[in-house]
Amino acid sequence: MTNWHDRTNPTPGIDPESTRWQRQEMIRHQLQARAITDPEVLHAMTIIPRELFVPREYAEQAYADGPIPIGEGQTISQPYMVAVMAQLLGTDHSRTLLEIGTGSGYGAAILSRLAKRVISLERIPSLLDQARQRWRHLGLDNIDGLLGDGTLGCPEQAPFDGICVTAAAPRIPIPLLQQLKPISGRLVVPVGPRFAQILQCIQLDNEGNSVVTSLFDCVFVPLIGHHGWMPGGRSA
Ligand code: SAH
Repeated sequence: MTNWHDRTNPTPGIDPESTRWQRQEMIRHQLQARAITDPEVLHAMTIIPRELFVPREYAEQAYADGPIPIGEGQTISQPYMVAVMAQLLGTDHSRTLLEIGTGSGYGAAILSRLAKRVISLERIPSLLDQARQRWRHLGLDNIDGLLGDGTLGCPEQAPFDGICVTAAAPRIPIPLLQQLKPISGRLVVPVGPRFAQILQCIQLDNEGNSVVTSLFDCVFVPLIGHHGWMPGGRSA
């Protein structure tokens, strides 16, 4: 097990030997077995050490097939979900991507290997701080972590080639549609009631109409904000 938590030890860096076999098993059993075929997505998930993105007490479960608590009532997404979203967004390295819901910073770390630049928005300061430390530690210098309500997107940096929402939205947040590049851009977002969503992939046609593809059932923590849920649980 790598020693991210022990600051006195040398930097393990990307793709530490000690946990490589766990990543390879994860790739085989959780991703390739479920139709994750994009070689670049598989490579990104092979080199990013997921154990650095979970609390110390969960380090042994870092490669388990499910979400893991990261504090503040939030979770790091299941590896498969991270891979599905990345694969849906595509892997053209000239792109700028927007992620809503930094959480642990793992999803942004994966996307950073598949794009020119990633902007990741988080509403909880302590989570953003930890994610930034992890990115810095790994030398992932093409991610900008910003504090704020991600349901409003990041209009100053728009339009985006891809937008990935890693929290559950009661409906598609309109500002995110407005910040998506027409035709080529993709917005991936879990949409639906509090405890049961459908993962949706949205593109804009020539006239700016959204074309929605519904993929599969999923459950994410709530997207809380102006175009999401209210902190108490009601839809804003
Ligand atoms: N991508 C993350 C998953 C994090 S869980 C990872 O790889 O670990 C979802 C995150 O979305 C939580 O950290 C939560 O605080 C954040 N979130 C919820 N509503 C948000 C909003 N309106 N703006 C930004 N972040 C939000």
